[in-house]
Amino acid sequence: MDEDEILADADRRAHNYLTSIGKRRVFPDAAALNGLSAFDEPLPEHSTSPLDMLRLLDESGSPATAASNDPRYFGFVVGATLPAASAAERLMLAWDQCASSFDNSPVAATLERIAARWVLDALHLPRESAVGFGTSATACTLVAIAAARRALLLRKGWDFDADGLVGAPEVKIVISELAHITVKKALRVLGFGMKRVIVAPVDADGRIDPQRLPPLDDMTILCLQAGEVNTGEFDPFAALIPRAKAAGAWVHVDGAFGLWARASAKASLTEGIDGAHSWTTDGHKWLNTPYDGAMVICRDAAALAQAMNSDAVYLTGAHDAQKNLNLEFSRRARGIPIWAALRALGRSGVAAMVERHCAQASRIADGLRAGGFHVLNRVVLNQVLVRADTDEQTVAIREAAQASGEMWFGATVWKSQPAFRISVSSWRTRDEDVDRLVELLCALRKR
Ligand SMILES: *Cc1c(COP(=O)(O)O)cnc(C)c1O
Repeated sequence: MDEDEILADADRRAHNYLTSIGKRRVFPDAAALNGLSAFDEPLPEHSTSPLDMLRLLDESGSPATAASNDPRYFGFVVGATLPAASAAERLMLAWDQCASSFDNSPVAATLERIAARWVLDALHLPRESAVGFGTSATACTLVAIAAARRALLLRKGWDFDADGLVGAPEVKIVISELAHITVKKALRVLGFGMKRVIVAPVDADGRIDPQRLPPLDDMTILCLQAGEVNTGEFDPFAALIPRAKAAGAWVHVDGAFGLWARASAKASLTEGIDGAHSWTTDGHKWLNTPYDGAMVICRDAAALAQAMNSDAVYLTGAHDAQKNLNLEFSRRARGIPIWAALRALGRSGVAAMVERHCAQASRIADGLRAGGFHVLNRVVLNQVLVRADTDEQTVAIREAAQASGEMWFGATVWKSQPAFRISVSSWRTRDEDVDRLVELLCALRKR
């Protein structure tokens, strides 16, 4: 098989797919979904043609994509991949580096070191922090909490690495009533039982209420949130973090998408967040980098490097080797597309993208309110939570909008009632795309 031929064919097909963005359905129709049955074949006994494989992948696979790269995709907070990030990713595939340390890949180690510095700079977080580039906010939160628990136990003289958890002093967890489901997953996997986790009540907007914050001590990990997934709201860091630190607690912040507000004119929403001990954020959401790229950021670099250490011969893992800052040992250089996005956008480009999305979210909220919808959140960020008059009407309009193939956004339940969750997070989305969304929803409401 000619390597050039198959890679050139892949490039051509990828190019065709990308140029169809904006013209294709945002969610596949029934025929495209039925076409997926073409993949249902037995494992081949012998080698087959890679060109045939690619044709099958494109002809049956491409039509069945959710066009999350489309300017009218408003689901979850998925973003679209910036051309610069996507281009860097392609070159990276050709390099095929195992990016565990400098010895394995000098270029990856160098670029990830610089990406780490730029991320801290863009997000105004403590410059001494270590940044691990992991697969997801889920995995990065797991890593941060593991490092936090180990550090709290170490302060009590408990050697977690040697003695594990049996007989260890108890580490308590406090999370928001509205903590993301993946934070709960990370805690569960780490062995913090859900019945033992302490829940902090939230106010009417969905932020932890400082008046009702459960007691904290020096064996507590407090998990806060920057950007609640329905409302886009932020916990009041300036009120909570100094109290937690005075009690000796460790503060972790899940900022999967919301942390990027700190790189923009919306930074006041994050006031006081830099006082925390660790943070999680994604590249693949609001920074518009490819899946799967996320970051765990830990002020105490040694605490992270010790918890994730895979340098068997040393007591303390090197702080600058990604294999010591993450779960993965053999890994892609996830920091490279993040470096590429930051280099292409620059500080002002990141700010402009975040601010544009927030303005577009407000534009959607205004348009839908004018069309008779109920906007349920304050729209402080890029998330808009919407209802029609009744549950039935809300569900019917969403289903009709999704079936149209003209746009896509997801469903959620807010205060026990069904709602739409509209998220603006794609660099491709223009004001006219937002206006079309409003028009279509208003037309569906009048039907
Ligand atoms: C998406 C999201 C996560 C999980 O991020 P993944 O990268 O998908 O694992 C966690 N918290 C919040 C607030 C999110 O929006």
